Amino acid sequence: MKIDADKEFGSRECPGCAMDVPENNNRCPICGYEFPNPTPRQKHMKLWGALIMLAIFLIVILRLL
Ligand SMILES: [Zn+2]
Repeated sequence: MKIDADKEFGSRECPGCAMDVPENNNRCPICGYEFPNPTPRQKHMKLWGALIMLAIFLIVILRLL
């Protein structure tokens, strides 16, 4: 089951029952499957967010000099 509206909040398909489970939910509410780790995509998003913030910070500093 796939609902596009849920994609904005982040979801992953449960391997047990194919239900979309929110990324912040480590356990499937339908069948009780436990996801081993946070999804790599979420980690990448945080990493890229930090890098972009650092880049903007550096650009602002360089412009001030
Ligand atoms: Zn499930």
